[in-house]
Amino acid sequence: MPKILVTGGAGYIGSHTVYHLLRAGYDAVVVDDLSRGYRRNVEAARLREFDLRDTERLTRLCREEQFDAVVHFAAFIAVGESMQKPEMYFGNNVGGTLSLLEAMEAAGVRRLVFSSTAAVYGFPERIPIPEDHPYAPVSPYGESKLMVEKILGWLDRSSGVRSIALRYFNACGAEPGSGLGEEHDPETHLIPLLFRAMQTGQPVTIFGDDYDTPDGTCIRDYIHVSDLASAHILALDALIGGGKSDAMNVGTGAGHSVLEVLRAVERVTGSKVPCATGPRRQGDSSALVADSGKLRRTLGWAPRYLSLDEIVATAWEFEKNRGGKQ
Ligand code: UDP
Repeated sequence: MPKILVTGGAGYIGSHTVYHLLRAGYDAVVVDDLSRGYRRNVEAARLREFDLRDTERLTRLCREEQFDAVVHFAAFIAVGESMQKPEMYFGNNVGGTLSLLEAMEAAGVRRLVFSSTAAVYGFPERIPIPEDHPYAPVSPYGESKLMVEKILGWLDRSSGVRSIALRYFNACGAEPGSGLGEEHDPETHLIPLLFRAMQTGQPVTIFGDDYDTPDGTCIRDYIHVSDLASAHILALDALIGGGKSDAMNVGTGAGHSVLEVLRAVERVTGSKVPCATGPRRQGDSSALVADSGKLRRTLGWAPRYLSLDEIVATAWEFEKNRGGKQ
């Protein structure tokens, strides 16, 4: 079975992808510096704990292991933080990728699945968003991902590195029974924050209720993390089978407002979620919904989780078992 290097495999989406890769029989080695991920998300024997920018060590690993392909998750992901610390975002997200590409080149590894984002589109002109929509990121985070996509485009031409960039919409939920789930420190994502508000009684702030949407709150495409993981495995298989470079959206195609997500959390948990309306968050688009037709047609992908309540229920299962652990 193919052997895969997973960078950032101790994080939320990375650890779910490793979980599904192993269950599908792939071999996987994780490189993660644990600056944002959690040791408990990866079996000790699989983890190599170091910063991707240690090109020498990464090259050694790639040469020793002779990976068939790489899935590259390792990156900083908080939009707000990227506005405060752009150099940190470009340094890690672009610098880390360049180091990885150098190590891959030295070891002759030429297939990469890259974690990209809907943030490359900025404030979209139309919904659902197709991949050929103009790129106009509005944060250093989104820009750093677009820069990597462009670098990958040039490498495809110059050195035959084949890559598939998967542009995620809003990852959420958890694989039941895996012990894995969404946890960030500090937490900035909506669903974990709704649980926290419910548990602590401290209201969650709704970032704006004056958007041009039916209930005035922002609309997002919430995609279950295991459906994201399955897209990675299909992309890997395509590249290993000789497929060409591409970029594809990963979302369900359905949009839900912040208030709809809040109501779903209330239905699933049976508890009220205290909330207060605050100002808009800088950089938020009113609606981000994927046209994922390309992924469906090209790789035969289909999401298993289509109901918001079902997705939230998997997240709640994780949250209950986690019991506030950090
Ligand atoms: N959101 C909110 N309050 C919060 C966190 C998020 O109203 O405390 C909204 C945010 O404006 C966005 C949606 O919830 O419309 C999802 O935000 P999240 O940060 O989870 O993901 P993003 O869309 O930024 O990738």
